[in-house]
Amino acid sequence: MANQGLSPAHAHANLLQRYMDLPQGDKIQAEYVWIDADSGLRSKTTTLDGPITSVDELKEWNFDGSSTGQAEGGNSDVFLRPGAFFPDPFRRGNNIIVICETYNNDGTPNKFNHRYSCMKTMEAAAKEDPWFGLEQEYTIFGADGRPYGWPVGGFPGPQGPYYCGVGAGKVYARDMIEAHYRACLYAGVNISGINAEVMPSQWEFQVGPCKGKDMGDHLWMARYLLIRVAEEWGVTVSLHPKPLSGDWNGAGCHTNYSTNGTRAEGGMKVIEEMIKKLEKRHLQHIEVYGSDNDLRLTGRHETGHIGQFSSGVASRGASIRIPKSVAIEGKGYFEDRRPASNIDPYQVCDIMVQTTLLSA
Ligand code: ADP
Ligand code: MN
Ligand code: MN
Ligand code: MN
Repeated sequence: MANQGLSPAHAHANLLQRYMDLPQGDKIQAEYVWIDADSGLRSKTTTLDGPITSVDELKEWNFDGSSTGQAEGGNSDVFLRPGAFFPDPFRRGNNIIVICETYNNDGTPNKFNHRYSCMKTMEAAAKEDPWFGLEQEYTIFGADGRPYGWPVGGFPGPQGPYYCGVGAGKVYARDMIEAHYRACLYAGVNISGINAEVMPSQWEFQVGPCKGKDMGDHLWMARYLLIRVAEEWGVTVSLHPKPLSGDWNGAGCHTNYSTNGTRAEGGMKVIEEMIKKLEKRHLQHIEVYGSDNDLRLTGRHETGHIGQFSSGVASRGASIRIPKSVAIEGKGYFEDRRPASNIDPYQVCDIMVQTTLLSA
């Protein structure tokens, strides 16, 4: 792929492998990951005395919040509380990657810790067993800041051949995407599929169905692995909902949702009631459905308009789509197409359950 990618790390890949093959004794490495003030990911490593089997065995840790926009300089310790851990596909062995919540000095959740509230909500709604499936769309950029694989000084041909494309010139960066998929499987991320998207160098992976309390952890871990794999390829991942203006599709994070009620006989009626509730709270939802989402939800390029709630069976131009198969079966799940690619999944899962199950 021209010289848009390939990081310097490639030059040292064989050298690095000599060291990665060294036995590491009883010790293991735990990579603590957290979400920063810009919905970016940060991480740092600590050595543990041995393998662990439960998240409770992991220590609380901290970092300098003034360096990540998460605290003032004078009082800058932010605490990392482990939430979930996954096998580390980069270091392998018993090494792990840990998704953490952030807490302020006074013990309150950090402003950017949306997991805390999400967990409370999922506990309150546990008897309805909410499930989610998120479709994460994203765009790959080369080191030169242009979309990966796009011709220098020009544009690829118009959209059409790229969605689920096969063959040279129709699909870009398949090797990196394949690497990410395997990394997710190794880590135990509940990844359910991938596809090339409508705009060249835009891709999607799906995670789910996941129980409400796991959804955010699995999506953030899948994002972390993607960004790390892309780092090795020397390319970047954009979660911006409209990375390029013009006649190019934006990027979303469609949120598929079901509960005991929607999955049971007569579930279609429950889905319809939920959609009525969602309509009443359209603006509150849009508030947590990603920044710059107005650039994407224009009513064109397979979206509903941001200012107008709508729903329909098999409709890809609506806010909410009921899959055809669900309408035929009379039960199942529905898809909220409004969330942008840059959402915090904890916030989206939280408000979905609040609106459909916990509000009057
Ligand atoms: P689309 O046709 O919109 O592109 P995808 O196949 O990309 O759909 O994604 C569908 C998503 O729906 C998957 O993430 C899947 O896990 C999720 N899903 C399937 N069944 C359910 C369910 N009962 N509840 C919640 N999510 C579900
Ligand atoms: Mn999809
Ligand atoms: Mn898609
Ligand atoms: Mn979809």
